[in-house]
Amino acid sequence: MIDPSDHRLRQREYLLQISRALTAQLDLVSVLSLVISYAVEMTAGTSGLIALYDEEGSDELRIRASARLPREEWPAFARLLTLPLSDIPQRGEQILREIAADTGLTLRQMIALPLVLRDSPVGVIYVFRAALNVAFSSDDRHVLQDFADQAAIAVSNARLYQSVLREKQRLDAIIEQSADGVMIIDSRWRITTFNRAMEQLTGWSREEAIGRPCAEVLGIENGQGVNICLADCPLQRLPLAPNPVVEGRITTRDGRQLYVQSRYAPQRGPQGQFLGAIANVRDITAQKQEEELQNTFISVISHELKTPVSIIKGYASTLRRDDVQFTTQQYREGLEVIEEEADRLARQIQDLLDVSRLSAGGLRLDPADFSLAALAANVVRGFAPSAGEQFQFELRFPDDMPPVHADYERTRQVFANLVSNAIKYSPEGGTIRIGGWPEGDVAVCYVSDQGAGIPPEEQEAIFRRFYRVDNRLARETQGSGLGLFLTRAIIEAHGGQIWVESQVGKGSRFVFTLPLGRRKLPEEPGEHSPHGAVGPADAVIDR
Ligand code: ADP
Repeated sequence: MIDPSDHRLRQREYLLQISRALTAQLDLVSVLSLVISYAVEMTAGTSGLIALYDEEGSDELRIRASARLPREEWPAFARLLTLPLSDIPQRGEQILREIAADTGLTLRQMIALPLVLRDSPVGVIYVFRAALNVAFSSDDRHVLQDFADQAAIAVSNARLYQSVLREKQRLDAIIEQSADGVMIIDSRWRITTFNRAMEQLTGWSREEAIGRPCAEVLGIENGQGVNICLADCPLQRLPLAPNPVVEGRITTRDGRQLYVQSRYAPQRGPQGQFLGAIANVRDITAQKQEEELQNTFISVISHELKTPVSIIKGYASTLRRDDVQFTTQQYREGLEVIEEEADRLARQIQDLLDVSRLSAGGLRLDPADFSLAALAANVVRGFAPSAGEQFQFELRFPDDMPPVHADYERTRQVFANLVSNAIKYSPEGGTIRIGGWPEGDVAVCYVSDQGAGIPPEEQEAIFRRFYRVDNRLARETQGSGLGLFLTRAIIEAHGGQIWVESQVGKGSRFVFTLPLGRRKLPEEPGEHSPHGAVGPADAVIDR
């Protein structure tokens, strides 16, 4: 006869062991196996089973753990699992007999209790006895209830763990798929998560990045080249802002220069201690460039448009003064300046309209066949009078130069921009040559000067919007940096190309291509040229 107090002690000891196993996060089946073997022992059973419903709401039980019942015998218990607990008193014995007959096991009595979690059944615990003479008592039922409760807790833990795991996998997938760079850092500012966008943004692979300090991998620099992440990390500033943001430059591992914005969501412990942070990093290079361009735009426009306006206003108010007698010559000169500045203003406004038209979707072209030589001569005639004594103009086109197929007014604008630049950037004067020749199905044209030239590293940049070479000459000459940008846009709209060949101090040659027309121009000058002027094919224009 077992001493009841000894029995209770043992039960307590077993329950303690089970709850230790529960907190040590053993997997569900191990905990259930522990529960059922102690339950069998404490209720003087010969064997036992724990079966669980597959998922919440399902009414199909599946065996998950057993004590002293080999796994091969589990299928024989299927008919028991389909029997509702309420039917066990009437039909339980009969079913046990059938199972016993099938398996050869001695099973004579049974006790079964539901595992209940927050009022809903999650499974059933069964204990069997081989002896017929000793029936399960209400004490046994109480003991089993304690073990059933433990098993229900194990199920609850496992479900919680599963849902946390699923949630984590979902979060990992969201982080991984995020178009923004996402990195998670721990309480020591070391990277623990680094998504694919972050790899692309920084050029660091996650294998290299994880475990390193974030200041080393991201290293955002301010305008003075200081690593803000090291010198002034917003996560180390007190009091901590709820969502600190850092913006600045980074040099990626593969040497790219980017402008990024990093937003941090810090995590704090109950005592306010820093636990880590999630950083959301975005490449805002394009946005920054656009902002810079807008600033340039405003300063260029205000300067370029204000200058002619103030000159016009100055001359107009001087000329209308009643207290000064101006000579006719002085009047004429004053009015000439007003006219020139008004033209300049009109050109600037036209350029700006063209630029905004370009950003709104391209230039509209109205192409026709015409003679380039005639157009070039026409442009030169327009510039020659104001160019001054120190300039010579030469036109060099072969006699049999075929016509081009292009927009006449836009091509005039190209020549006008290039000739105007040739004059502006040749402080000593010199010869300005305009020529061309046919090559395949394009006309190759050029405008050359003997002026200041352009350093090699600037030869691509000068075609950018608002770009001006930063030298004394550019500072002394007026300009908005839009001329070459528009020139290139016009040439490219025609399917052509433009580039510059230049040597500092020697001069520059702007070369571009335009499509040739499909037919030769007729002999009679001007008949098919939209603007009539066919000039000398190879001429030197002197004034
Ligand atoms: P802008 O003349 O209004 O400044 P452009 O777009 O026409 O603007 O030219 C951009 C820059 O390229 C100029 O500021 C100048 O520095 C340089 N540049 C253009 N043409 C020449 C040239 N023929 N010789 C030397 N520099 C030139």
